[in-house]
Amino acid sequence: MRSGWPPNLVIRGYGQYYDVLTPEGVLRCVVRGSLKRERRKTDLVAVGDRVEVRRVAPGEGVIEAVAPRTRALSRRARGAEDAEQVIVANLDQLVAVFAVAQPEPSLPMLDRFLVIAEAQEIPAVVCVNKIDLDDGAKRRLFDPYRRAGYRVVETSALTGAGLEELWSCLAGKLSALAGPSGVGKSSLVKAFRPDLDIRIGELSEATGRGRHTTTVTSLIQLDEQTFIADTPGIGTLGLWGVESSELDRCFPEFRPYLGACYYADCRHLAEPGCAVRAAVESGAIDAGRYASYQGLLEQLMEEERAEGWRRSRR
Ligand code: GDP
Ligand code: ZN
Repeated sequence: MRSGWPPNLVIRGYGQYYDVLTPEGVLRCVVRGSLKRERRKTDLVAVGDRVEVRRVAPGEGVIEAVAPRTRALSRRARGAEDAEQVIVANLDQLVAVFAVAQPEPSLPMLDRFLVIAEAQEIPAVVCVNKIDLDDGAKRRLFDPYRRAGYRVVETSALTGAGLEELWSCLAGKLSALAGPSGVGKSSLVKAFRPDLDIRIGELSEATGRGRHTTTVTSLIQLDEQTFIADTPGIGTLGLWGVESSELDRCFPEFRPYLGACYYADCRHLAEPGCAVRAAVESGAIDAGRYASYQGLLEQLMEEERAEGWRRSRR
């Protein structure tokens, strides 16, 4: 992690309390009163924050200061810049985990995760697990993501294949795992920390389905400097405030074409002279990725229309 930062890391939050990992162990902390009045537009303290703490009793402390965040994975309300809920602060990357089979990979869901990451400028990696079940063809489904510039790591938590490569991608970083249940997220984490008794995302399945307020993020420590954020809500949420006009930029392989459309505000649907559609037709852009773009764009435009309608009635 970055030098010059306080070593103490917020690993869990519940209401007024935060568990802070310090060199002397975990302290249950509250936030200093005067600090609460400082920041407003975002959560004051979030899981993943580096903080200064003062120990006040055995196992108890007070968060005195919060280090500036590099970035954050957050839930934003569209058009409301003053309202964001930070899911994980200082997140280094999002790892989208899918299986080649059992369950069959949902590429539209993968595309949605990647759009969320791109929109929030969080680097993304694709992990294709259960590679032991591949008949040779399934892994090819992920070729368009390699061509789009994403790192794709193939793993098997069962046989151990690819785990070294996955580790090289996780080591020293704070990563969030996102993916449908059953793809092997917990198995991968357990492969690195066999001593832990964990069920990734268990909480979301038990209590948090779609209920944003009850999802609790916590950090799992794999080694001194390596952490995994268990973010139960991540799989169930929509697009977190992405604007329809910025969606095209969230597909990295579209970017070389974006300035070349006839209309400056081209949405790459049926407009004449669309460079993105021409690239789809020539095979330079994958047709499945483009179909995901269309699907997500429709969804965002629909939401924006509904919002405009609600606003006009106020
Ligand atoms: P999660 O819901 O994403 O955390 O998935 P789990 O780690 O609980 O795994 C779901 C099921 O898939 C379990 O029965 C695992 O034993 C199995 N599983 C996990 N990884 C692999 C793998 O690489 N290959 C195979 N064949 N099965 C796996
Ligand atoms: Zn266009």
